Amino acid sequence: MKDLKDLTAIKLKAYTPVKSIRTSWNVPISDFARLTHNPIRAIVEGLKIVPNPDKQLIALSIGDPTTFGNLKPAPEVVEAVRRVIEDGSSNGYGPSNGFLEAREAVAEYVAHQGAVTPNDVILCSGCSCSLDLCISALAGAGQNILVPKPGFSIYRTLAEGFGVECRYYDLMPEQNWEVDLSQLETLIDGNTAALIITNPSNPCGSVFSKSHLKAIINIAEKHFLPIIADEIYEHFVFPGYEFHSVSSLSEKVPVLSCGGLTKRFLVPGWRMGWIIIHDRDNHFRDVRKGLANLSARILGANTMVQGALPDILRNTPTAFYDDLVSTLYRHAEIAYKSIKQIRGLRPIMPGGAMYMMIGIEIERYPEYETDLDFVQALIAEQSVFCLPGQCFEYPNYMRIVLTVPEEMITEACKRLTEFCEKHYKMDDRIILQQQNGLLARMNQY
Ligand SMILES: *Cc1c(COP(=O)(O)O)cnc(C)c1O
Repeated sequence: MKDLKDLTAIKLKAYTPVKSIRTSWNVPISDFARLTHNPIRAIVEGLKIVPNPDKQLIALSIGDPTTFGNLKPAPEVVEAVRRVIEDGSSNGYGPSNGFLEAREAVAEYVAHQGAVTPNDVILCSGCSCSLDLCISALAGAGQNILVPKPGFSIYRTLAEGFGVECRYYDLMPEQNWEVDLSQLETLIDGNTAALIITNPSNPCGSVFSKSHLKAIINIAEKHFLPIIADEIYEHFVFPGYEFHSVSSLSEKVPVLSCGGLTKRFLVPGWRMGWIIIHDRDNHFRDVRKGLANLSARILGANTMVQGALPDILRNTPTAFYDDLVSTLYRHAEIAYKSIKQIRGLRPIMPGGAMYMMIGIEIERYPEYETDLDFVQALIAEQSVFCLPGQCFEYPNYMRIVLTVPEEMITEACKRLTEFCEKHYKMDDRIILQQQNGLLARMNQY
C-alpha cells in the first residue's frame, strides 16, 4: 500500500503575509489551522478498516478506558459531581487559573512532586490543554521542542500550528524504552525551547528509573532547557516499578508538570487537567506570567468539575487506584505471555500506564510491507484492531490498550495467534539449518 508518510509529513511553511485587499470571496484558513493536524487521524483515516463480518470487532486501539464499560469511576467521584450540580455552587465562571479551593486540593494531591502551593497550579481543560499552554508559553515560530519517539502525537498536533518544530529523540525498545541520551543531545540547538518527557509512557508503557530520569535532567540542565513533564500516568506503575516525578528529582531545571483526572479517575470526558509549576529558583518568572496570560484564553476550566475537585481528590479511596493498576497489570501479563509465544511478534512488557507495544518482524510476514498493511489484514481477517506504530512515528510496531475487558484481551490474543501462524514465513536459512540438523541426526542412525 501507499506509504502514508507523505500524507502525514507537514512542511512547516513560513507564515504568509497578506498580499492585497480582497476583491472576491476567497476565504482561506489561517496558517495556524492549516498547520494543525492529528497524525493518528490521518493514518487511521487512510486505513481500510473492514472487519471480518463473522467476527465481532475487538478494538484494542482506543486509548479511552471508558469505552467498554468495564472500568468505572469511583462512586465518591460521581457523588462529588452530583452534589455540585444539585447545590448549584459551581455554575458560574471561575478565575481563569481555577477556583482557589480546587487548586488547593490539587497542590495537596501532588505534594509528592515537591513543594507546591495553590499559586503553582493552573487548572486546564484536560491534560492536552495543559500541554497546549506549556508548549505555547515556552516555544514560538521557528523554535523547536524535543519529543519522544515513539511518542504521543498530541505534542506534534499542538506544536506545528505555532510553527514549532518537533524533534524526535529515540527511545530504545531493547532497553526498556530508555532515552538514547547521546542522540537526544545532538538535537539541541539555540532554538530548542523545551524538552518533553512522557513518564510513564504512552504508547510504550515504560516507566523510567530514578537514575535514568536524573541522567535526562542532567542534559536539560547542561543546556538550560526547561522540561515539560507529561505525567498524566503518574502512579500507574506495576509491581517492581516506582514512579518518580521529574520535579522531585530536578534540582536546578524548572519543570512544568502536566496531569489531570482523565486516566487515573477514568473520566476523560470531564476535561480536567492541570499544570504544576515547579520553579524553586524563579527561572519561570516570565513563563508564569505567560501561562497566566494564556489561561485567559480558555476563561478557566469546567467549573462543575472544579467544584467537585476537592472531594474527588480527597475522597477517592486508595483501593480504587490499586484496583485499576492491578487490573491493568493482569491484562498486561495475559497479553504479554500469550503474544510472546507468537512467532514474528515481539511484545515488550510494560512497567506501567495502559498500553503495550508489540514489535512486528515484518520480514517474517512477506505478504505485508508495513505495519499499516499488517494491521489492515488483521482487521480484515480477525476483526482485531491494533494501532499501527506509524501513529507514534514508529514503524513495524503496533500498540494495544490494556483497558479492555479481560475476555476481549484473551480472545484478541487467540485471534492474533491464528493470524500470525497463518502468515508467518520462516527464514529460508532457518529452514535449511533445520533440514541439515535433521539430516545429520538421521545419518547418526
Ligand atoms: C491521554 C493523554 C493525554 C491527554 O489527556 P486529556 O486529559 O484527555 O487531555 C496527555 N498525554 C498523554 C501521554 C496521554 O496518553
